[in-house]
Amino acid sequence: MLLQNLLQKMQNCPCGRAHTVDLEGVEIGRGVLDAAADLLHTYRFPDDLLVVADRNTLLATSGILEHLERGGFCVRTLIYDDLRTAHRRDVERVLAKLGNAQAVLSVGTGSLNDICRRAAFLADKPFAILATAPSMDGFASDTAPITDNNFKKSMPARQPRLILADTDVLAASPAVLKSAGYGDMIAKYIAMADWRVAALTIGEYYCPQVAELTRDALQRVVALTDKVTQSDPKTAEAIMEGLVMTGIAMKFCGSSRAASGAEHIVSHFWECRKLEQGLPSDFHGRKVGVATLMIARMYHDLCAHADPERFGADSTDWNRVYAAYGPGFADDVRRCNSPTVTDDTTPEILRENWDAICAAVREEIPAPDVLEDLLRRAGAPTTAQEIDVSPALCLAGLEYHPYMRHRMLLSRLVPMLQCRTDYPKWAGM
Ligand SMILES: [Zn+2]
Ligand SMILES: [Zn+2]
Repeated sequence: MLLQNLLQKMQNCPCGRAHTVDLEGVEIGRGVLDAAADLLHTYRFPDDLLVVADRNTLLATSGILEHLERGGFCVRTLIYDDLRTAHRRDVERVLAKLGNAQAVLSVGTGSLNDICRRAAFLADKPFAILATAPSMDGFASDTAPITDNNFKKSMPARQPRLILADTDVLAASPAVLKSAGYGDMIAKYIAMADWRVAALTIGEYYCPQVAELTRDALQRVVALTDKVTQSDPKTAEAIMEGLVMTGIAMKFCGSSRAASGAEHIVSHFWECRKLEQGLPSDFHGRKVGVATLMIARMYHDLCAHADPERFGADSTDWNRVYAAYGPGFADDVRRCNSPTVTDDTTPEILRENWDAICAAVREEIPAPDVLEDLLRRAGAPTTAQEIDVSPALCLAGLEYHPYMRHRMLLSRLVPMLQCRTDYPKWAGM
């Protein structure tokens, strides 16, 4: 129903692009777990199935393997203890197991989905997700963030043919995962502003209807802020729908613009630096929520204080950038910045569009104290300390994240705005 409505809405979009999906079904509701085998048959999944899960997600979907076997599937399994990072070697493990099976079912969320999404793409086999928590928005995505040599890259991947979620399972998932999903949604405020900034400054493609879809999904989730951590199937269902919708929005516009902006890159910066030191990171959505609040402070401040008269050429101190990333990442950063994204704009363009840029920030991003209150009420963290990011790492991420991608962000324009920066204040220190 959800999917059919969205597809209908996006027909003959004025932006001129055909907005299509590979996704054929989204089944979110009560009793989906007991109907999983039937649903997989309905969506033409072959009988020989590789199930990828971890111990927690198997527990949450208790009896799923037996249920699938009773339903006529020959089930092979790859069961992790606890998979926190989607690493290239795990994609290879899935591929090795997949050799004998005809389709993949990923039971879980996050990294478990990502390795399957990428493997299904490489092996060209159908793929389904049985979600166990509304913890992030990547369910419907057709790219996967895969880590290799501690650097996280967005790789082409397969959009699932089918997304299944039993609302009783979602409702029973740990509150920390539901709050993480909320943090991932809150990020859309920044994503919408950065997308408009990219359209204004470098003429990047922007679809108002896809943006509206994301805003709609975000509003639905924000309306449930106070219920996020409760074990309520109706709330879990609405949040899951919002998360799936933004994933579909990403697929519609063929980029992650519809769902992520500077805050996601800040979070990736923190994650990669910690990975390099062999340290685990907090959940994706928890980090992203904290970064959203910090970027909101930055963007509102920039719009309040930057003076168009002073705008000039990009004054990036590249030696400092490379020093901040360290030798392990220097090559990747060099690649992302040759050429660098500010080459596509000029101080004049910024000056002409500055009012529109500030309007985008003010229209899309709530005031920082409002955001902080929303995150708290949803049980999400608001400080670097709560997600175990040190003050030094936090500040480095806020200042240097824009160089991690070839992507226009308002934060990437700081060296052209020539205005005072106050990273500690923006970090809430
Ligand atoms: Zn469009
Ligand atoms: Zn995200």
